[in-house]
Amino acid sequence: MMNDENFYNKERIREEWHQNLSQDDSHRSGIRFSRRVRLARVTGLAAMFFPIAGVLVTHLIPGGWWLFLVGWAFVWPHLAWQLSCRSPDSHSTEINNLKLDAIIAGIWIGLMGVNVLPAVALVMMIGMNMMGSGGFRLFVCGITMTVISTLVTLQLTGRVVAFMPDPLAWWLTLPVMVLYPMLFAWVSHETAIRLAEHKRHLELMSTRDGMTGVFNRRHWETFLLKEYENCRRSHGDAAILLIDIDHFKSINDTWGHDVGDEAIIAITRQLQMTLRAGDVIGRFGGDEFAVIMSGTPAEKAIAAMSRVHERLEKLSLPSAPQERLHISVGIAPWGPQFGHHREWLKAADVALYKAKNAGRGRTEVAA
Ligand code: GH3
Ligand code: MG
Repeated sequence: MMNDENFYNKERIREEWHQNLSQDDSHRSGIRFSRRVRLARVTGLAAMFFPIAGVLVTHLIPGGWWLFLVGWAFVWPHLAWQLSCRSPDSHSTEINNLKLDAIIAGIWIGLMGVNVLPAVALVMMIGMNMMGSGGFRLFVCGITMTVISTLVTLQLTGRVVAFMPDPLAWWLTLPVMVLYPMLFAWVSHETAIRLAEHKRHLELMSTRDGMTGVFNRRHWETFLLKEYENCRRSHGDAAILLIDIDHFKSINDTWGHDVGDEAIIAITRQLQMTLRAGDVIGRFGGDEFAVIMSGTPAEKAIAAMSRVHERLEKLSLPSAPQERLHISVGIAPWGPQFGHHREWLKAADVALYKAKNAGRGRTEVAA
């Protein structure tokens, strides 16, 4: 029978479970974020190595800078990935890695004497990464860091600003300018697809009963509310049904919970096969189901349930072939006397009690 206290306690337990799940989820989403940035960083920095090296080779710089450049372009992306993977808060660590990217980009821009094309490519890369990862605020923060780091490098190294790029810098930078935005767009596209899938999965989880796949009680009640409003407006026919398996406890006790679960699933399938596609089936938890039959008078709902009773007579569970499943059904046709959709549901519950008290295995209609 409907037992709200029991149901909502179960809901509370489920909510706590979901909370734990969401902490785990946030760690995994941090890792996914780092993985996306890693792809952009590995390719972007490796590609930027060549134009930067092309410019620096014309300046006489100490060997340490070359080591730093090779480390930044080819080792740092993997180190950054390891750092964020091992961090308890991968997302924040990755944001810090991005800020470090912005600072180091500024160092190269300064060291190249603000050679305009590689500098623009670096700013574009940093800007896209920042905007894509943390929106406008992180973008402003990243660009500011790059500018400050450029000015400090110019100051410390005494480099002369020479905007004009030489032809080699042009040719080495152009592929980055063309290919990096494409790579970024592709990563964004993949992320959008994954998010849409994730959203669909979450929607399914929050609206469906995990075991049977029909609607859970909370979501089923939103359909009930809609149907109730429709009926009030149009005074059409509609019926709601509450269905409870008879002596289900004894099935559990005799055969075990697995067979009990099998019975619940078998009854769900029988309902799905017998009722119309437009009928809204929900599981209220335990061995109780509910159905909304829109545009259906009580007689038709009774006829549909007779067919379900008949089918169940012939049904045998693979794990317990001699066990027969029986259900009791309470039907409440819509009527203007219901001032609230829960009153309508209550009427179906009272009819179900009547069916149970009258000997089970039958359908009763609310008075
Ligand atoms: P009645 O004819 O009066 O309905 O008797 P009943 O034995 O079916 O009594 P009731 O409907 O109150 O029993 C529901 C039982 O269903 C209680 C609980 O142990 C069992 N149950 C609840 N959820 C599940 C489930 O997901 N799987 C299984 N196997 N059993 C469940
Ligand atoms: Mg029961």
